[in-house]
Amino acid sequence: MSNLQISQLISEEQIQTRVKEIGAELTKKFNSDEVVAICVLKGSIMFFSDLVRAIDSDIICEFMGLSSYKDATVSSGEVKMTSDINSSVAGRHVLIVEDIIDTGLTMNYLQQNIKNRNPKSITTVSLLFKPDALKEECEIDFYGFKIPNDFVVGYGLDYQGYHRNLPFIGQVASLN
Ligand code: 5GP
Repeated sequence: MSNLQISQLISEEQIQTRVKEIGAELTKKFNSDEVVAICVLKGSIMFFSDLVRAIDSDIICEFMGLSSYKDATVSSGEVKMTSDINSSVAGRHVLIVEDIIDTGLTMNYLQQNIKNRNPKSITTVSLLFKPDALKEECEIDFYGFKIPNDFVVGYGLDYQGYHRNLPFIGQVASLN
């Protein structure tokens, strides 16, 4: 078990309120069109499951495995696909759902990867965004919260596999 000191940065209530707001904006944007929503495993699972329930459109849920962190708290700088989605996205609206934009490498990789499959449109959303950590320009349509350049856990985000089940976003005070 990890012995992190975790202090709450974003409460469960704040997350739930913001998710509903983003869901309402996406409902407006998609205007009842069918959308293939892609959950980026594993960090986006909580955000994805709450968000898709806040969007009033026909949603096809898909899951993609990507890794850029290997049990570490700094990005390896390399994005690798570990499992692909099952549906074709050619000619369809796509919603990419990320947990956090840190360096921006993962979101850029994802956008390029999906773009190559000729979708009708790509919309991107991330729960968290660390503007001070960006290493490359990254286009994002919606985000939940801007946060400082510190390592966070909870609501799907882990440290060495732990803490994904916290209902809030916590800042890590010390790492051992
Ligand atoms: P990027 O490619 O933007 O550097 O990183 C994206 C991925 O790195 C995220 O999907 C997430 O899995 C991981 N990541 C980035 N920052 C954090 C953080 O503060 N905490 C945790 N747990 N994961 C992070």
